[in-house]
Amino acid sequence: MVFEKIFVEEQVKENPFTLKILQALNFPEIVLIGKIEDVFGRVKKPYLQKRTNLNLFIGKKEGELIKKTPNAYGFLNEKHYFFVHSYNCVYECEYCYLQGYFSSPDIVFFVNHEEILAEIERLALQSNDRIWFHAGEFNDSLALSGLTCELETYVNFFRKTPNAFLELRTKSVNIKQFLKLEPLPNVIVSFSLSPEKQSKKYDLKTPCLALRLKAIKKLAEKGFLVGLHFDPIIYDENFAELYKTMITETMEILPEKQLVYVSLGVVRFTKEVFFEVQKNYPKSDLLASEFVKSFDNKIRYNKPQRLWMLKTIKSLCVGAGISEKKIYLCMEE
Ligand code: SF4
Repeated sequence: MVFEKIFVEEQVKENPFTLKILQALNFPEIVLIGKIEDVFGRVKKPYLQKRTNLNLFIGKKEGELIKKTPNAYGFLNEKHYFFVHSYNCVYECEYCYLQGYFSSPDIVFFVNHEEILAEIERLALQSNDRIWFHAGEFNDSLALSGLTCELETYVNFFRKTPNAFLELRTKSVNIKQFLKLEPLPNVIVSFSLSPEKQSKKYDLKTPCLALRLKAIKKLAEKGFLVGLHFDPIIYDENFAELYKTMITETMEILPEKQLVYVSLGVVRFTKEVFFEVQKNYPKSDLLASEFVKSFDNKIRYNKPQRLWMLKTIKSLCVGAGISEKKIYLCMEE
């Protein structure tokens, strides 16, 4: 990973995670700053500069460390929260909402993991039921975990907190750290998958489907539990055929009992993200479909089309032996 500049907040310059990151990067010079927000995103940096010129910021997450997820984010009737320990991503999916979310694609690592975990513990202790904590809302949970080194700390914490469930969501195949750890019933690595043809077209710079399936197989063989996100589902005239092949291939390498859930979500954009997609990827096939403004002001396919696509994929999942109870619709009405 090559960064143009590395900015470190004074208050975390001695943090053990900061020191590990800096040691791994072996960067000649760092710039000490007061607060990340004094520099990060102060001047709009075009999203596609991530291809050639990325800075790294290391700091402390402040304010609300754990947030409630939007509705329809996970299993219904369970509590869902997300935590943020990083901003931005080294991959470049054409539909990625990060392109309209931050005004810079620079990478940010927050290293106050002990404080984030203390907040998770507080919420878990207040609950008698299963309570979920999702990582990867503003980044890919595993892509840079070899550099950030926090995984073991999180997994060890969840080992002692059985009613709290951790979801680490990824498109990477960076599972080396994981394979060194013991599997737990409350730690789920979840993979976002799209059929190979679509992944090649839209998930730029990510590992191909075959590699993601290989990573799932290795984790399953080691006894880990896995989640799947078929999200975003993008229309293609052969989408049912493409999904059928992918679902069959996935279930050939992943025992159903180790699959915790499958979430299905059709592609959607906020107005700002849609504008950025048009600007950054004007020739993308993504833009070839008709979209409408939907119930939550997001831009989506029209409702009958969405429901038909979701129903088709759900029945393919059930047909491949996935229990219907494990399938939920993400961010749908
Ligand atoms: S992997 Fe996720 S966070 Fe990274 S570019 Fe793709 S959609 Fe965005």
